[in-house]
Amino acid sequence: MDIHTTDDAVTKRIRFFTDREQMLRKNDMYFYNQPVEEIKGGARVIVNGREMGMYASYGYLGLLGHPRINAAAKAAVDKFGTGTNGVRTLAGSLTIHTELEETIAEFKHAEAAVTYTSGYVTNLTVISTLMGRGDYVISDKLNHASIVDGCIMSGAEFRRFKHNDMAELERRLQQVPAEVAKLVVADAVFSMDGDVLDMPRTVELCKKYNAWLMIDEAHSIGVLGKTGRGIEEHFGLGDVIDIKMGTLSKTIPSVGGYVAGKKELIQYLRHASRAYIFSAALPPAQAAAANEAFKVILDEPWRIEKVNANGRQFIDGLKGAGFDTMLTTTAIVPVLCGTDERAFALTQACQHQDLFVLPVVSPAVPEGQSRLRATVTAAHEPKEIDYALGVIEKAGKKIGIIQ
Ligand code: PMP
Repeated sequence: MDIHTTDDAVTKRIRFFTDREQMLRKNDMYFYNQPVEEIKGGARVIVNGREMGMYASYGYLGLLGHPRINAAAKAAVDKFGTGTNGVRTLAGSLTIHTELEETIAEFKHAEAAVTYTSGYVTNLTVISTLMGRGDYVISDKLNHASIVDGCIMSGAEFRRFKHNDMAELERRLQQVPAEVAKLVVADAVFSMDGDVLDMPRTVELCKKYNAWLMIDEAHSIGVLGKTGRGIEEHFGLGDVIDIKMGTLSKTIPSVGGYVAGKKELIQYLRHASRAYIFSAALPPAQAAAANEAFKVILDEPWRIEKVNANGRQFIDGLKGAGFDTMLTTTAIVPVLCGTDERAFALTQACQHQDLFVLPVVSPAVPEGQSRLRATVTAAHEPKEIDYALGVIEKAGKKIGIIQ
């Protein structure tokens, strides 16, 4: 049945999208949802029979396929099977879940931790459990969509501050009545721009105005801090975050999300957060893989040094060629193109020369700030990054992004 039969708002919305997608496909500029047939280490993939350099992976430490992690997952399937019998509260919590939560708590220097089936769900359920009508959530403008959705779902007053602008964060905090419950929430490393939150000042302000602090470490675990423990270690701040949130789907090559913090907070979430009490737990293989991955990070610290050295090489090379990489200092490297068309053209040139890299265009980023959003990992070798730099520079000149 043709969807274009009526002219209602939903049909129009879908038609607008369909037309845009078809236009991109016609011009050989649609590169989303590509069929990855094989992952060869963290740095290369086979797509449509072609081997390509991978510059769109969040596996920052190159742990996907690590023999210890694979072995842990297989052993968990042998021991527990492939599912969880349902909700943990009623059907029982597997020992592998408890083990994983203890590992996370230790890694994050926290008293306890709780896991959920995705990072997205973790942000939704934690924010909406802790905050409610009459409370205030104050969120950085570039925070991840799952944080924004959690804030909206909570029903609390939702205030945003200009990205990483501590003066504006303070003004927002001053606008909240003193006696009201308030939560400041931000990414540690921002997922589109790759820059790092001004944590020392954020912590000071939260203390001054008696606000809870929640930090999403999706892109900082394994990347920030000498041992990869994240933003507190990076700034040498000790245990200053009330709600330490992260995902198990990026540096940790599994799936799921977690929150670490004080025992009472975690116990409360186990009994009050709807994604825990009304939804089944992580499959045993994924819990075991995540558990082992945290241990591998501590046993193989060279990976943290390497992802950061690779990030520096990539950023310096792009800047040297004249590209604007915005404020990134991490493994997420935006290559600013300007218009959507330029971002699609640069993507096309890269993809045709075996670089698997994707664009981020409006409305995901403000108009005029469309970009390639490239990532490097510990699995890349310097000569592979040099090749990628050569391809991007040549194409950037041809398209007119750089001189
Ligand atoms: N927070 C941030 C900052 C993210 O980038 C993402 C994933 N893109 C998530 C949360 C959601 O995590 P997951 O993919 O595990 O659901």
